[in-house]
Amino acid sequence: MSHSASTESLRPGAGKPSPRFELLTFGDELLLGLTPNTHLTWIGAELGRRGVQLARNVTLNDEAAAIAAQFRESWARAEVIITTGGLGPTCDDNTREAVAGVLGQRLVFDPAIEHAITERFARFGRQLTPTANNRKQAYRFERGEVLPNANGTAPGLWVEQEGRVLVMLPGPPNELRPIFTEQVLPRLAARGLLTSGEAYVQIRTAGVGESLLETRLQPVFDRHPGLGLSYCAHLGQVDCRISSPDGRYQMDALQNIAQACATSLGEDFVCFGHASLVKVVGDQIRAQGHTLAVAESCSGGLLANSFADLRGAAKFFQGGIVSYSNEAKMLLLDCPECLLSQHGAVSAECAVAMAGGVAEQLGADYGLAITGFSGPAGGTGENPVGTIFLGLQAPGGVWSKKLTYPGPRSAVKERAVTAAIDWLRREVFQEARQAAGPAAN
Ligand code: ATP
Repeated sequence: MSHSASTESLRPGAGKPSPRFELLTFGDELLLGLTPNTHLTWIGAELGRRGVQLARNVTLNDEAAAIAAQFRESWARAEVIITTGGLGPTCDDNTREAVAGVLGQRLVFDPAIEHAITERFARFGRQLTPTANNRKQAYRFERGEVLPNANGTAPGLWVEQEGRVLVMLPGPPNELRPIFTEQVLPRLAARGLLTSGEAYVQIRTAGVGESLLETRLQPVFDRHPGLGLSYCAHLGQVDCRISSPDGRYQMDALQNIAQACATSLGEDFVCFGHASLVKVVGDQIRAQGHTLAVAESCSGGLLANSFADLRGAAKFFQGGIVSYSNEAKMLLLDCPECLLSQHGAVSAECAVAMAGGVAEQLGADYGLAITGFSGPAGGTGENPVGTIFLGLQAPGGVWSKKLTYPGPRSAVKERAVTAAIDWLRREVFQEARQAAGPAAN
């Protein structure tokens, strides 16, 4: 299984391509889908924050010949290779031997590693002498360094050879992460292989699909040839990352280009970077000194939970009411019985009554409501399964919105929540612009 990055791995601003980093993840359990490859996401994110985009990740089983062949190929083209797993004591952990063959190095027994293993065993009350297969972990490359492992028996290994760096790390995340953070990153930084910022600028958008987003941004990109562009769609959100594969754009130039994109996107632009939609809107409500309450039926508390997940939510989030039945809507939100019998609980009228009711009950400036048929049963001819009504009570007015989503229950719920938060975001920012006066528009 191989993941190739859509753009080359390069640092902007350096004026030349940055070193190529490849990650090789070893383990049958990864290919069987028994263990998610979190080393890819974690190491990718750690490097990404330091100006490096992994050029490639290859996942292999523990077969020595395949490991040797892959390592030979990677060693020929990458400046930094990081491997994970396969350093354990058992017969399927052949990685050291396979890699040593390609490097043309011998593996040598290191009494200091054996001592660390023995001490560790003693600390946990096991036998004082490691077994023969534990001794296997005490071998290191004859021309290389050992990266001590405070949380396990297999240390990491560091080799510098032919102008390249090899880092081998143990598989368990609680062992790998501290070694990577405390020993590997400082060494890479000391050799000028990292920078202080991200390798790209990310533009986060909402409410516009991937293909339309590309079409809308193309005029900006046409004015700046040579940019590296990649798009990533989530439910209701699309991110666009801009980088400079050949180093011709400095980071401030990339930021200016991203700013031009943001301006052309208007309200569909959410933020630069990785802040969630809910954080962006929460921060703005808080900055305006306003408060929010939510009411929901089919989303069952997901909307409230999105806000409750935010650190500091108590500063603006009054609370949420999950009113599933008509009785709950009448009792907790003051929805009139005649409204429910005339229009039904999945209606624009009910969504508005829920939004107004929760704002009133909890004394909030904004009331946001979701009601709908998330399926698989239910629905009417006019409002089939997947129909959602949103209600919004804001200082500037009261509105409803009808949406229809395909897909299973969980996807409909999630999409409804994203749409509700995005709608609130647009309204909150619109009110902020109006309050700031014509110059801000
Ligand atoms: P050990 O000393 O435990 O044998 P090792 O270096 O040989 O370590 P593996 O045997 O390949 O590593 O993996 C040990 C454990 O590490 C696995 O059970 C798995 O839970 C975790 N692991 C390995 N690779 C990954 C990965 N890419 N992402 C997340 N977890 C992983």
